[in-house]
Amino acid sequence: MIPHLWNDLEGTFFPESALDYMPESRLREVQLQRLKAVTALTYEKVKLFRERMDAKGLKPADVTTLADVSKLPFMVKTDLRDTYPYGLFAVPMSDVVRLHASSGTTGKPIVVGYTAQDMEVWKQVIMRTLYAAGYSRGDIVQNMYGYGLFTGGLGLHGGLEGIGATVIPISGGNSERQIMVMKDFGVTAICGTPSYFIHLIETAQKMGIDFRRDLKVKRGVFGAEPWTDEMRKYIESASGVKAFDIYGLSEIIGPGVGAECECQDGLHIFEDHFLAEIVDTKTLEPVPDGTEGELVITTLSKQAMPVIRYRTRDITAFETSRCGCGRTCRRIRRISRRSDDMFIIRGVNVFPSQIETALLKTESSLPHYLIVLTRKGGLDQMEVRVEITGEMLTDNVGAMEQLQKRFGKSIEQITGLHAAITLAQPGTIPRSEGKAKRLLDQRNLTN
Ligand SMILES: [Zn+2]
Repeated sequence: MIPHLWNDLEGTFFPESALDYMPESRLREVQLQRLKAVTALTYEKVKLFRERMDAKGLKPADVTTLADVSKLPFMVKTDLRDTYPYGLFAVPMSDVVRLHASSGTTGKPIVVGYTAQDMEVWKQVIMRTLYAAGYSRGDIVQNMYGYGLFTGGLGLHGGLEGIGATVIPISGGNSERQIMVMKDFGVTAICGTPSYFIHLIETAQKMGIDFRRDLKVKRGVFGAEPWTDEMRKYIESASGVKAFDIYGLSEIIGPGVGAECECQDGLHIFEDHFLAEIVDTKTLEPVPDGTEGELVITTLSKQAMPVIRYRTRDITAFETSRCGCGRTCRRIRRISRRSDDMFIIRGVNVFPSQIETALLKTESSLPHYLIVLTRKGGLDQMEVRVEITGEMLTDNVGAMEQLQKRFGKSIEQITGLHAAITLAQPGTIPRSEGKAKRLLDQRNLTN
């Protein structure tokens, strides 16, 4: 069993965020002690990991330094599918107090489990996230993440109660009611996906409600989908709500693996619970700090479903400078790209976030867009449907053509690719109540 190491930290139990400022040498000691423990536990209890270690001729005792983590075998998402539902669990089901699942795009979901101690860790990392974003007791928080099997809603919920905030567990959807609650309940802070919040900004406008004048919402923690700095600027200028990024994934714990502080300059990883590496996407060898690669995470204190060297598919880099906030936990650059979201068109790798950046750099567009891929005469075609604002709508055909050209040029500058631009009427691109759908790949249906 992994010991309750966070109790040992010179009695530092509250506020939980004190752990973010642990002296770095002590932090590395804690990481190494936990890495050894989690490697031994997983080797003993999880067949898949033990077989892979044995195949490499490795034993848990071969981990003597933190750098030794790079000897250990990787885990990937299909491992969770292949062992569905409980094959990676390291404790008996009687010790599992919570199950969550994430919907896969195909077939069975992946299932994750938590012991009572895992739930406590989860609560604490969310509390640290919320403190870092300036939330406190006295805040009235509208939690718009989906409740249920998805880790977002209940994950944030636990931490919000932990800091003593007043939680409104509203979940996503019913946008006009969301705005009514925000106004009538005196909401001061929110949590949710950034794309849904942008939809709410428009909903408020339609209802004649001005965020700055009529609402008290000052800050928001946004995540569960990659988003860009341009999107943050849009949210902050359109609503006056200071927007903080949170990072996590169900396979690791859910939200709360890392979070932005008041500096909004990269996400601090809660390194006492999660050991982060960044590896080259092709060679899978560690890259130097500051270089982009795939984020790989080892859970250091998870009991029910420890994961060793989990390949997240998220592309980022370690920040090389110290953060102005004084936290000692290392930061990663905010993730705007998942290698899963990448599409290849005419041999060029493109991420939806690049299209988003191009569109938001061109004035007059809202961050509502859809990328449609088709094939014509064997050649890939990219169409980008961009929704424009009501004020932009004009009978002047020339002006609309100019706007199309500006969008097309901006996309070409960033991706090097030609895209056919279709201007869509306000409100016609489907809104999502959770994660936004940005890509429609119809290349198998066309030719
Ligand atoms: Zn910081």
